[in-house]
Amino acid sequence: MNPNLRTELLRVVGQLRSYVLYHKELGLEALPWSKRSPQTLREVREKLGDCQRCRLSRTRKSLVFGEGNEKARLVFVGEGPGYEEDLQGRPFVGKAGQLLTRIIDAMSMKRDHVYITNVVKCRPPQNRSPWPDEIACCYPFLANQLRIIQPTVICALGSAAAQTLLDTNAGITTLRGTFHTWEGIKVMPTFHPAYLLRNPERKGETWEDMKAVQKEVAKGPR
Ligand code: SF4
Repeated sequence: MNPNLRTELLRVVGQLRSYVLYHKELGLEALPWSKRSPQTLREVREKLGDCQRCRLSRTRKSLVFGEGNEKARLVFVGEGPGYEEDLQGRPFVGKAGQLLTRIIDAMSMKRDHVYITNVVKCRPPQNRSPWPDEIACCYPFLANQLRIIQPTVICALGSAAAQTLLDTNAGITTLRGTFHTWEGIKVMPTFHPAYLLRNPERKGETWEDMKAVQKEVAKGPR
């Protein structure tokens, strides 16, 4: 290497090292140019913008971000918006959503006490399950929503939500019924309300899961 270039390179590296040490001594854990995580749900929504990060953007009518209480102790996470949700731009407003609302009522809560969102924010065509690359694109926004809300319990509705949050391939029948954790927050996987509409005989198991969730939420913040 050219000696002048080597000297210049060592000088730049030295300056960079001094700069990092200086900020470390000031007690900063991140350098000033590092990306700041969003601090509010509004900031997460703004970061999504008119999101085109995956192919689901091409067929959606609405980007369904989520709704509810930013300080909710309980967050429901579903798979993705369906037909009605895509039309209205709100999560869980179709038939499955009406069942979820009845479940929330039966837990002596209201929809505006909780927060409701999905793993992917845009409707997969023909209500197919979201593909892994679509989930991977959208997951950081769900993670930010959950980190901001910091609920006591996350209820994962169906396989896609449970497998995404718990990073597993296990099925919902195996996962449901016991608490797991996501970044230190308790996660209760249970059947998706759309599945319960097709398989009403499984409602009893979901109610057992919801009673456990209700008990955990009643204990108060983590
Ligand atoms: S599903 Fe998520 S990542 Fe894909 S376009 Fe919609 S908001 Fe963006």
